[in-house]
Amino acid sequence: MSTYKRVLLSMPSLPVLNTMDAETSTASHSPQFHDTLRQAGCLSLTALGIETLQINVGKLCNQTCEHCHVDAGPTRTEIMTLDTIEAILAVLDQHPHITTVDITGGAPEMNPHFEYFVSQCHTMGRQIINRCNLTVLFMKGKEHLPQFLANHFVEIMASLPCYEADTVDHQRGKGVFNRSLAALRILNELGYGQEGSGLTLSLVYNPLGASLPPNQNKLEADYKKELETRFGIQFNRLYTITNMPISRFLNHLKASGQYEDYLNLLVTSFNPASVNGLMCRKLVNVGWDGKLYDCDFNQMLNMPLRGGEAPSIKDFLFETLANRLIVTGQHCYGCTAGAGSSCGGTLA
Ligand code: SF4
Ligand code: SF4
Repeated sequence: MSTYKRVLLSMPSLPVLNTMDAETSTASHSPQFHDTLRQAGCLSLTALGIETLQINVGKLCNQTCEHCHVDAGPTRTEIMTLDTIEAILAVLDQHPHITTVDITGGAPEMNPHFEYFVSQCHTMGRQIINRCNLTVLFMKGKEHLPQFLANHFVEIMASLPCYEADTVDHQRGKGVFNRSLAALRILNELGYGQEGSGLTLSLVYNPLGASLPPNQNKLEADYKKELETRFGIQFNRLYTITNMPISRFLNHLKASGQYEDYLNLLVTSFNPASVNGLMCRKLVNVGWDGKLYDCDFNQMLNMPLRGGEAPSIKDFLFETLANRLIVTGQHCYGCTAGAGSSCGGTLA
């Protein structure tokens, strides 16, 4: 039996329902994502439970990276309020099966309630992931954060798209590489990335341009060797993520005339083996205003949960959401291309 057939047969049986497929700004002459899914034997894309709440606490950020799917930056004013954070904590309190809280932004640490939120999640025994851009740790008034994160055993997922200064500074801003290395050294000194410390330091790679990421395991080995020998830096895992053709990266693709080629690359690289592991199947994403989405990308495309207006975290219904149909669009090819892509790296 071919690998392709084995993968299809291993997919959970799914009800014959129309996948909610929204036209997004990435739509072109390419086959619709839901048609490609059907041809691969997946008649509808449904959730398979809720293990993670992914919380976008706001679009405020100290950087303005070229590829940012959030369009985050220092002038953004969208920020999660304490009232919404309390509503999320109430959901976590009621649903112990949601084991992981994945905090993203913007720069999550710039939300004034970040530390309160983290300490409450820690008290509830949740695994906490903080998607950290590293440079935020040097902002005035944030110098204590590395120790705070270590005290609460927060896993740090830090962006570092290369181990060369020029490449990182080109994508993320001048001086970002050196400040990132300085932050990684501080985290290493606290025990992050060190065996047996219980403090996990993961790095996130995304391609500089309109290409798919290379093999994750091989790249991780390269990063470990280069960061250790050149800079004395250690980390636990490297995750590769595909650039999504939305927001700032979409503008870049269109301005540089690469949009059609990139979308074609994503479409022709569709890998059915990635479908079972798509991150939307086991998480619910919460926007800065408390609205619920299938993932952070759908949030940025303003594609609410099916049924029109996204229900708020205050209307959270575990049983309904754990089996929901997922809203898809052409951007979803970014998650299924090649080895697949998610906030936790490759899928297949
Ligand atoms: S990619 Fe991350 S660090 Fe860069 S602007 Fe967006 S949120 Fe900020
Ligand atoms: S973009 Fe990816 S995670 Fe989001 S709904 Fe599409 S396949 Fe799922």
